[in-house]
Amino acid sequence: MTDFPPGIAYIDGEFVPISEAKISVLDWGLLRSDATYDVVHVWKNRFFRLDHHLDRFTASVSKLRMELPFDRDGLEDILHRCVVRSGLEDAYVEMVLTRGVSPTFSRDPRDAVNNFFVFVIPFGWIADEQQRARGLRVHIASVTRIPPSSIDPTVKNYHWLDLVQGLHEAYDAGKENVFLGDGRGNITEGPGFNIFAVKNGAVTTPATGVIKGITRQTALDLCAELGVETRETEVSEGALKSADEVFVTSTAGGIVAIAEIDNVKIGESTPGAITKKLTELYWTKHSDPAWTTAVIV
Ligand SMILES: *Cc1c(COP(=O)(O)O)cnc(C)c1O
Repeated sequence: MTDFPPGIAYIDGEFVPISEAKISVLDWGLLRSDATYDVVHVWKNRFFRLDHHLDRFTASVSKLRMELPFDRDGLEDILHRCVVRSGLEDAYVEMVLTRGVSPTFSRDPRDAVNNFFVFVIPFGWIADEQQRARGLRVHIASVTRIPPSSIDPTVKNYHWLDLVQGLHEAYDAGKENVFLGDGRGNITEGPGFNIFAVKNGAVTTPATGVIKGITRQTALDLCAELGVETRETEVSEGALKSADEVFVTSTAGGIVAIAEIDNVKIGESTPGAITKKLTELYWTKHSDPAWTTAVIV
């Protein structure tokens, strides 16, 4: 028997304990990674930037030519009900739409009945407390990120074999996490996070070949609020290694400093001044009604 984290799911129109939430072995979401999803977090009983996540999820669903069983209000209502039933104050909330199963196992994607489910588990972090305090040590993988000409990275997807291969490479190299390049000397993203460099007080992040992370957008918005200049552009691996500060952004943990890339120490001390300011402001926004939605009990 597998042990599961505490949590609950909404699947096949029912709320069930996480251990009972199952999908068919014939689901194309599993057999073809033919699915899209989104993850929003709840912190102290408030969703963070829920509208942004719902916008991205519904856009991803239409780009893949799939259909949700609910309109936006219906979707939002299910998310609230899942969080309430989970009893979790701080939660990781994943909504998923898979291509589903075709009754005849036809190879035509139009024949499949799309499958929607949600699961809510305790809030999770891309880096533990100690790693967040001193910055992550990362490896730049030899495997490159799947190109945007193959898979549209703005559709949040489960094409993660490159990222997982990269993680194994990083662990083999004695590192804690991984960055993937584009094969042309530029950095893209890592397993579930976007990447930022700070040089001479200005912030850059890759413009293309990456998901438009909601935390990425949040970091850009917070920079604007702090009067820090930002640019979405190409970021070379060399520029990253010679940056004053490097940080990553993810719904799973917010803004996290990078201490070392391939044995090159980043900046004077980690976290750097701008990373620190952004992190503080990021968490302050978690009680601001303009940035959050209270879970409706
Ligand atoms: C979800 C995800 C991110 C981070 O996006 P957020 O919306 O900030 O959580 C980055 N890269 C990939 C590949 C992702 O799937």
